[in-house]
Amino acid sequence: MNQQNISNAEQAYRNLGVTPIINASGSVTRLGGSRTRPEVLEQMAGTARVMVNIDELNRKAGEEIARLVGSEAAMVSSGAAGGLLLQAAACIAGNDPVKMQRLPETEGMKNEIIMQTTHRFPYDHAYRAAGAKIVEIGNYLFNHPWELEGAINERTAAVAYLCAPFTSKRVMPLAQVCEIAHAHDVPVIVDAASMLPPRANLQRYLRDGADMVIFSGGKGVRGPQGTGILCGRADLIDAALANASPAQFIGRSAKVAKEEIVGLVTALSMFVDEDEEAEMAWYRSMAQRVVDSLIEVPGLNISLEHDGVDYLLPNAVLRLGGDWSGPSAQQVAAALQQGDPPIYLQQLRAPDELMVDPLNVTEDEIDIIIRRLREALTGNR
Ligand SMILES: *Cc1c(COP(=O)(O)O)cnc(C)c1O
Repeated sequence: MNQQNISNAEQAYRNLGVTPIINASGSVTRLGGSRTRPEVLEQMAGTARVMVNIDELNRKAGEEIARLVGSEAAMVSSGAAGGLLLQAAACIAGNDPVKMQRLPETEGMKNEIIMQTTHRFPYDHAYRAAGAKIVEIGNYLFNHPWELEGAINERTAAVAYLCAPFTSKRVMPLAQVCEIAHAHDVPVIVDAASMLPPRANLQRYLRDGADMVIFSGGKGVRGPQGTGILCGRADLIDAALANASPAQFIGRSAKVAKEEIVGLVTALSMFVDEDEEAEMAWYRSMAQRVVDSLIEVPGLNISLEHDGVDYLLPNAVLRLGGDWSGPSAQQVAAALQQGDPPIYLQQLRAPDELMVDPLNVTEDEIDIIIRRLREALTGNR
């Protein structure tokens, strides 16, 4: 976008009294998600004005996504969270209209979803919204195969597995969970919403045995912000589709618009074709600029982290613990948020850690971030 278009777009927000921000926090929905690809937005503007049969579009778009992912079947959901709702609905009600009609009332049905305690997360509300009862196994330190074996019974609908940064330690590996669950004919549903890129993850969880996997379309794929990619076994995707909009069942309140469906297919196709090394080199250069510019701040511990597991993109990580005698991480984060323009850093990892995630940051913005960080860290010294 040229500068004029950007300021017009900013004005639309300012007219509402909303202040545009710099999001150095990654694909956080609360801070805007990600920058939708311009080619996708352009196509959406056109396809929004052409009428089609949505059932047909859902099926055909799903076939194309399955081809791009390399899965048996796929569909577009309303965000990854809407995909979690459909995972649960598909495993609990299948495509039996009598059961589908009753959701989220699940008394007497297979309605238990087993989760390792370390995998409980705020988004599992979407499973409960479909009527699932979460059955926890293990504790915050350990999860054992015999605990999973022991929890499976005639009411088990699925085993849910979370793939997210900083969750891989202290859990049973996905392949092992799949092996145990499958021995009892129980499907394994995976939430990998934020795990793209790396592109290898499109295949990875399916290869480990997952029956259904959800990815967000509005995060690293940079598709329409409100979309998700649900992929996996054909019979389960069929059931998910049966429960989804436009049918008037539990998924109807998680509708996806036709232009979003087409837009996601295009975004995913562009994402798959992209040169990941070149993409990472760009993010690395942005993060490195932050590290190089602030390394001289006395006592500051700052480094570039990128391992494709916990740090999916190259990030500049500031650690304000130990010998650091300047302002706390909270004080620095607050100073940046309260300035003009407001800057949001990633603060999730540890109380004394701040991260600059380059996903949503432009070259101009990275210089603003560096200047404001230096001011906040050194108190303008
Ligand atoms: C972001 C996220 C979601 C929700 O994804 P949306 O596409 O925003 O609905 C669900 N689960 C996890 C682990 C996430 O990181």
